[in-house]
Amino acid sequence: MSESLILDVRNVTKRYDSLEVLKGITLGLNKGETKVVIGPSGSGKSTLLRCINHLTTPDSGEIYLDGEEIRDANINAMRARMGFVFQDFNLFSHLNVLDNVRICQMKVKGADKKAATHRTEQELARVGLEEKAGAYPAELSGGQQQRVSIARALAMDPVVLLFDEPTSALDPELTGEVVRVMQQLAADGMTMVVVTHEMSFARQAADEIIFMENGHIVEQGSPDAMFTSANNERTRAFLNVIA
Ligand code: ADP
Ligand code: MG
Repeated sequence: MSESLILDVRNVTKRYDSLEVLKGITLGLNKGETKVVIGPSGSGKSTLLRCINHLTTPDSGEIYLDGEEIRDANINAMRARMGFVFQDFNLFSHLNVLDNVRICQMKVKGADKKAATHRTEQELARVGLEEKAGAYPAELSGGQQQRVSIARALAMDPVVLLFDEPTSALDPELTGEVVRVMQQLAADGMTMVVVTHEMSFARQAADEIIFMENGHIVEQGSPDAMFTSANNERTRAFLNVIA
């Protein structure tokens, strides 16, 4: 149903000089859906996420968030409604965990300190880090830092969360704690686009898996369909290598 369409990406293209990185990407995300984007390095996955929140401006096409077109002119308001979780956490190293999660609520949303503190405590509990409010990023493991980054995004009440390889910078033993938080979010009905190589997450949490290659969506389907009978030979080859 169109009224539940939260993110609507229509025919987005992007080139860097002669390199066409996105060659017309169309995808839609309904409220509560998790879509996992997979594909080889350089296929345009990060560029797609960056175009969605205009860290990179698309060359053509339209992107709508909850029915409103995302444009340079309204980008700050739109960004406040999208959470972005990066591979390298992007925490403020000079702020402790409490302030990392609290600052955007106060500066961007205008929340007062008491409300922001309360919300921060809730979100830290949700990611299992209520004990770490006073710690600085350098005192945390990578997995803990990424969970703080997720709590920070959640505290902004995003209508959609975008993840760009959230576990790629982590040692394997720290990946699980971040994946479990993401699985819980998916189960709780968060709307999410997740670029990841974590096929266990894709299999378990994705409503749909999108396979990108060379700036195109080559194939998309349910985890069952993609893992058991991907039609496209490239998709099959990719899944066999990675799974
Ligand atoms: P992925 O995330 O799937 O690995 P990217 O979206 O990061 O792919 O990159 C797609 C292609 O675009 C790559 O060839 C990359 O080198 C190129 N690219 C990405 N960002 C830039 C940029 N700012 N300037 C020039 N080329 C870029
Ligand atoms: Mg990338």
